[in-house]
Amino acid sequence: MNTRLQTPLAATVSRLDRLFPTLTPKQVTRIEAHGRRRSTTAGEVQVEVGDRAFPFFVVISGELEAVRPSETIETLIVRCQPGQFSGESNVISGRPAITRLRVTEPGEVIQLSRDELLALIQTDAELSEILMRAFILRRLELIAQHLGDIVVVGSMHSAGTLRVNEFLTRNGHPFHYVDLDRDRDAQELLDRFRISVHDVPVVICRGQNVLRNPTNARIADCLGFNESIDQNRVCDLVVVGAGPAGLAAAVYGASEGLDVLVLEASVPGGQAGSSSRIENYLGFPTGISGLDLTGRAYAQALKFGAQVIVAKGATRMACDGQRYTVDIDQGAQIRARAVIIATGAEYRKPTLDNLSTFEGAGVYYGATPMEAALCAGEDVVVVGGGNSAGQAAVFLASSSRRVHMLVRGPGLADTMSRYLIRRIEENPAIVLRTHTQIVTLGGEGKLERMEWRDEQTGEVESHDIGHVFMMTGAVPNTAWLSGCIALDENGFVKTGPDLASGDLASTKWPLARPPYLLETNRPGIFAVGDVRSGNVKRVASAVGEGSIAVAFVHQVLRQ
Ligand SMILES: Cc1cc2nc3c(=O)[nH]c(=O)nc-3n(C[C@H](O)[C@H](O)[C@H](O)COP(=O)(O)OP(=O)(O)OC[C@H]3O[C@@H](n4cnc5c(N)ncnc54)[C@H](O)[C@@H]3O)c2cc1C
Repeated sequence: MNTRLQTPLAATVSRLDRLFPTLTPKQVTRIEAHGRRRSTTAGEVQVEVGDRAFPFFVVISGELEAVRPSETIETLIVRCQPGQFSGESNVISGRPAITRLRVTEPGEVIQLSRDELLALIQTDAELSEILMRAFILRRLELIAQHLGDIVVVGSMHSAGTLRVNEFLTRNGHPFHYVDLDRDRDAQELLDRFRISVHDVPVVICRGQNVLRNPTNARIADCLGFNESIDQNRVCDLVVVGAGPAGLAAAVYGASEGLDVLVLEASVPGGQAGSSSRIENYLGFPTGISGLDLTGRAYAQALKFGAQVIVAKGATRMACDGQRYTVDIDQGAQIRARAVIIATGAEYRKPTLDNLSTFEGAGVYYGATPMEAALCAGEDVVVVGGGNSAGQAAVFLASSSRRVHMLVRGPGLADTMSRYLIRRIEENPAIVLRTHTQIVTLGGEGKLERMEWRDEQTGEVESHDIGHVFMMTGAVPNTAWLSGCIALDENGFVKTGPDLASGDLASTKWPLARPPYLLETNRPGIFAVGDVRSGNVKRVASAVGEGSIAVAFVHQVLRQ
């Protein structure tokens, strides 16, 4: 292999001491109490790319270096000197290593297994802060420098490319993107290999597998996202859904000593993860992007030892036996002593003839910087009058030429927070069109035009606009509950005082006590967040309910 070391990452960062801190002798002693000291020899590889549940090292003497190898070159990431330590996010999550760690100068290290490291950060607050911060910042640097083990070759006009990019981004996995719309050579190469437009994106995973328009589950398998998780044990608590409600339940449950397994059909973060800026969540006066907020919550859940299976959804709940069983994609069954349902809701899709043809190719259900970049300088349409539509309109107005906001009703007052209405009114780039609905979508391969109708005058207008954001309310993700749990007339899960005597009779409620707040008509099965009937559809209420439900889970497990 032709080895060429490039500029070390460490030399390019200004927050050097936070990324690569040097521990004090007292801190090193506290770490050593959890692991063991051993000597190293020059050239010895401590962690190889692809290793699972790999150890964590603190250098006592000598030197270690972390590199990211590709087929032809090695990129030097950092050299760890005495007092410094190895690792980034994967050492906590248990996912396969994406960098190689080897000894450059012999000496001594302290070595901790992943379990020992998890025990350390759960008990030592000071070290937990230093290590978590460094691991997360290092991961962000790898993402910024595209130093991952996966290449995505795609077009931003393809729904599959948007999906894959979003999946990797929201999983915090670094990747290199080759844009076919800009890179003619790459397009020519794909043509020669007869890779058609339906095969895009092409994903090259770990330099080995070439995947054509793979599902998220296929990518998760290839990158080994779920490999370190034992799916056969009986958990204390299974949380289904990793939006704000599920992540809160995971953080509180795992931090209070429960064995928690989280199942996520797509990526952690839920609807909140697709929000460009959340401004009403307590403690963030200047707002925070949904990706940031839920990314931190995800890291926090992992830090406390919760295990999160991604890209595998619950397909069925079996509730006839003594313990509950949740079936997941690809046939596995998860057994648990208690279950928290946190599967949230999904955007309602308007009935428009060829809507699915343009999904991801002009029709979007979330407005993040990724979608905003696609329509910079152009006209866009936002459909809906709720808070998420208002946020999207305000966000898109900063980069688009004009935002047409289409609402069916007479205005926004009944459906949107006052602060958003004021921003919309004050923004000259946003045009509010009331009593208006889209009636047709058109275009070749991607959305190019649409017609909308004024329901009061009946007048139909045609516009050459290629981007529409559908923000038209949500339907609950409860189909997988397969009749096991009482739902309200709109399909949301009924809990606590909302359960009628008939709901309890239908499951032969076996206990003397009535269901707890947030408990369904099955003992030990709770529902939290947007999926719950009567829930206030906010991040704060989802987080609050997730944490409250854990308190009741403790009571159920004690009974
Ligand atoms: C664009 C947008 C902007 C928003 N902005 C704000 C805001 O500024 N402030 C605010 O307070 N609220 C905001 N909201 C609302 C807020 O995001 C939701 O109330 C909150 O995300 C609900 O959290 P949840 O965990 O209950 O559900 P969700 O966020 O819907 O998460 C549910 C999770 O469950 C997963 N799931 C679904 N089915 C299954 C299955 N069968 N198996 C496994 N997993 C499954 C989903 O993939 C998802 O990750 C916004 C919503 C959107 C869409």
